[in-house]
Amino acid sequence: MSTDSAIRWTHRALPLVTGCDYEGPGCRSCYAPRWAYRFSHHPNAQLAARYQGTVAKTASSRIVWTGHVRYNDQVLHTLLLVSRRKQLRWFISRDGDLFHSQVTDAQIARVFAAALLRPDQQLILLTKRATRARSFLADPGSAALIQDEARRLLEEVPEKKRCLLAQHRLQEFGTSNSILPMANVVVGFSAEDQRRFDERWVEFREIAAAGWMIATSAEPLLRPLLLPSDYLALGDRVWLIVGGESGPTARPVHPAWLRSLRDQCVPAGVLFFVKQWGVFTEVALAGAVQANILAGTTTEELVGYARDCIVVWPDGRSAVPERSAPWWAAQRFGADRETVRPGEGAVLMRRVGVASAGYLLDGQDWDRSPPLPAAA
Ligand code: SF4
Repeated sequence: MSTDSAIRWTHRALPLVTGCDYEGPGCRSCYAPRWAYRFSHHPNAQLAARYQGTVAKTASSRIVWTGHVRYNDQVLHTLLLVSRRKQLRWFISRDGDLFHSQVTDAQIARVFAAALLRPDQQLILLTKRATRARSFLADPGSAALIQDEARRLLEEVPEKKRCLLAQHRLQEFGTSNSILPMANVVVGFSAEDQRRFDERWVEFREIAAAGWMIATSAEPLLRPLLLPSDYLALGDRVWLIVGGESGPTARPVHPAWLRSLRDQCVPAGVLFFVKQWGVFTEVALAGAVQANILAGTTTEELVGYARDCIVVWPDGRSAVPERSAPWWAAQRFGADRETVRPGEGAVLMRRVGVASAGYLLDGQDWDRSPPLPAAA
């Protein structure tokens, strides 16, 4: 699906909000600070300015958020300029969180304003700040704020350049108060484990009840997830994207977690999308070796895999395959340094990189996505 975005489930990814704060274990290997650091040193001054002050390098050469958040107004102009011949999916805010506390309500409203002006484009908003998302969408004042921002946004784009559709839309919705929910906006939350899923679903349940299409990004998936019945009952009004982690400190995803989510979603009609395995792939072991590992009777056979492999249990624990494994292996994988007694459900996974690990689950590409809006 991807056109100019490296993210498989979207066509375009915009750096509207840049800079963030860490918000739970899913943020540990966040790619965005490294990305932001690179761009903040870009020779193109306009591009570099979008990231200035958002990241810093520590004494130990780690790249971390500074806590400063930028909102790059002009990024949304792209949406108003895109041709009517293209119906695209836009991931808003690739390098930050739209619902971060440093982003104002008017700035959030501006995104919905862009969606209002271009009903032929689909906007995907993902957040870890579910409470803020719910309170913005439930606020009776938000519709008027969005309409004000739509007028302002349109005026910022030269008349000759802006798509005519946007102009017509402004006249069409006038002062109508019934602009929410928007059929071309998918609002969603990230959920790396059950606790975060449950906490954020409490808020998003209300958003779903108000008629919005919901997305969940279970990436990086760090633990198994059991989806609640009222979530599954929404069927194809829910889009679940799952994926393993990437980057130098990536953690593995147990294959059973992906299979379980597929088996929960598909019968319920929930749109199920596997983005990537991450950097690890399951090692196919010879039958006898696998049997020994599953029985937990021996670890001898695993010793040869110590340099680039990791054992993962269904509950999320992981370990390098021997007590004497080099210290860097334990540190690199964030694993417990212990004698491996794999036992039931453990799998051996090898670090092969994102491209080699791919995204097929049991040989199938799971790529169901919400339908794009019709051409207008
Ligand atoms: S909320 Fe998103 S952008 Fe912010 S640190 Fe976490 S993963 Fe990165």
